[in-house]
Amino acid sequence: MAAILLDVDGVLHVSGEPIPGAADAVVRLRKNGHRLRFVTNTTTRSRAQLVTELNGLGFEVADEELQTVAAAAVDALKGKRVLALTMHAIVGDLEGIELVGEGAEVVLLGGADETPETNLVFSYMNLARAFAELELGAELYCLHRNRWWQTKHGPQFDAGAYVAGLEYAAGVEAVVLGKPSPSYFAAACKALDADPHMAWMVGDDLDSDVAGAQGIGMKTVLVRTGKFRPDTVERARTQPDGIISSIGSLPEWIEEHL
Ligand SMILES: [Mg+2]
Repeated sequence: MAAILLDVDGVLHVSGEPIPGAADAVVRLRKNGHRLRFVTNTTTRSRAQLVTELNGLGFEVADEELQTVAAAAVDALKGKRVLALTMHAIVGDLEGIELVGEGAEVVLLGGADETPETNLVFSYMNLARAFAELELGAELYCLHRNRWWQTKHGPQFDAGAYVAGLEYAAGVEAVVLGKPSPSYFAAACKALDADPHMAWMVGDDLDSDVAGAQGIGMKTVLVRTGKFRPDTVERARTQPDGIISSIGSLPEWIEEHL
């Protein structure tokens, strides 16, 4: 039996529309005895909202099975004074972090979402404040640095460009807390008590999911849903151990390749 990490956005659903066969695949993977953990880079909803949303889409996911980036931020930044440019929804999950408007030890950036709140969080004023804090010596962290994500309307511009912009302006390098950082995958394997070399990562993103997990020696499966693009895979040096049409075919595929 395997330890399997499942990405959420683009693997289980796209913009809240479940991938056909995904809920059933999760049930069958469990029935076959595999240990599952759901690993998401989503930074725009709280853990409770995410679990409720997944349950509402027909996925049986328990609170403790969902690994969020906010939890990784708390692990890394507990007790620090942090200027957080993040969506309001996850602020409640940043327990133990002291959120400040100035005098920060850390500047933390989250991801964008499909609402106008993104305009406020990443306003010129906020980005300029973040730059000023970096100039005063604060360290730069980000929950992720995704370039874009897949919505039902097509690719949408994400906040990775703001991370890159602050790096450029302040001459610093950001620490990434979510995927593809090795510590994020290592924490997920540890939670399943799994040796990374024996564990699988299933995702729709060649960089965040596949290359990230391979970085700690995991085996990887890429799904042809969500942000999957055939030409990206054809051009890339990173290659997954398997490519499948969707998570719907994972239960059979994994039995053949264990
Ligand atoms: Mg994804």
